[in-house]
Amino acid sequence: MDEALLKQALEFGQPYTARGEVASYIPELSKADGRELGICVRSVEGGEIHCGYWQRRFTIQSISKVINLAMALERFGFDAVFNKTKMEPSGASFNAMSRISDSEDIPFNPLVNSGAIAVVELLLPVGLEGMLSAVRGLCGDPEIAIDEDVFQSEWSHSARNRSLAYLLQSKGLIDGDVEEVLRLYTQLCSLSVTAESLANLGQVLANGGVQPETGRRLLKEEVIRTTLTMMLTCGMYDGSSEFAVRVGLPSKSGVGGGILSVVPGEMGIGVYGPSLDSKGNSAAGQKVLEYISRTEKLHILGRLIH
Ligand code: GLN
Repeated sequence: MDEALLKQALEFGQPYTARGEVASYIPELSKADGRELGICVRSVEGGEIHCGYWQRRFTIQSISKVINLAMALERFGFDAVFNKTKMEPSGASFNAMSRISDSEDIPFNPLVNSGAIAVVELLLPVGLEGMLSAVRGLCGDPEIAIDEDVFQSEWSHSARNRSLAYLLQSKGLIDGDVEEVLRLYTQLCSLSVTAESLANLGQVLANGGVQPETGRRLLKEEVIRTTLTMMLTCGMYDGSSEFAVRVGLPSKSGVGGGILSVVPGEMGIGVYGPSLDSKGNSAAGQKVLEYISRTEKLHILGRLIH
């Protein structure tokens, strides 16, 4: 894979930017330019290639759920996490209440809002500063910080997530201060990253939890296995299965326009394209990944068949 291929992939994806819209339910996000598209790829050998708007800062949004899940698994273990959520695709939108409101059910998985908010309660003892330093380390990006404008914008429009959080409390899935949990969840969604930071994170996930350049183990191998499986099955919300068929890589999207993809054992990929489809996934970003996966034969199940 080289930069010429990335350029072709962005050219292939570009028309699809017109088929989506930038998020507006968090008003600050509507300021993004929906035509922008960028990509960065980091191999586990340490090489990097990039193209387009790969240095553009945007908010991580739901891709933070991957870090939150991995950190909660690492620090508090499998049972602590999966007492709070199941591990099934929800088949519903990312902020759906319908699948948890009328039954005894717990959230479907840790990568939809309800499950992620429940998981963030586990991280309260780690706190914002602890999480910030973990995120900076995993993303190899010391400049990651809260985008205050986006945070305030979401915080003042968070009726939906607040409802989910109080519903979780009513089910005994949040014991502590609901507002504190919601604040940390929203702060972690408001961290500013680039496609390169996501590629760095993907590189660590691709390399089984060891940061290749330093040789430091940041996450246990079993944590990586669980996290990548959740990404493959649930990372693109109600578009997860179609994306798995078309691209076949564990991935996670965010409404800031990012997609994190992992080629296990090989590379991490970060994509930026803030024009979103109706499910909240980057419209063109998905096409860019589809192009690369098909051209380079990266689909993980396709490879096993060969
Ligand atoms: N912060 C956003 C929310 O909670 C994240 C959603 C997303 O990226 N899909 O609504």
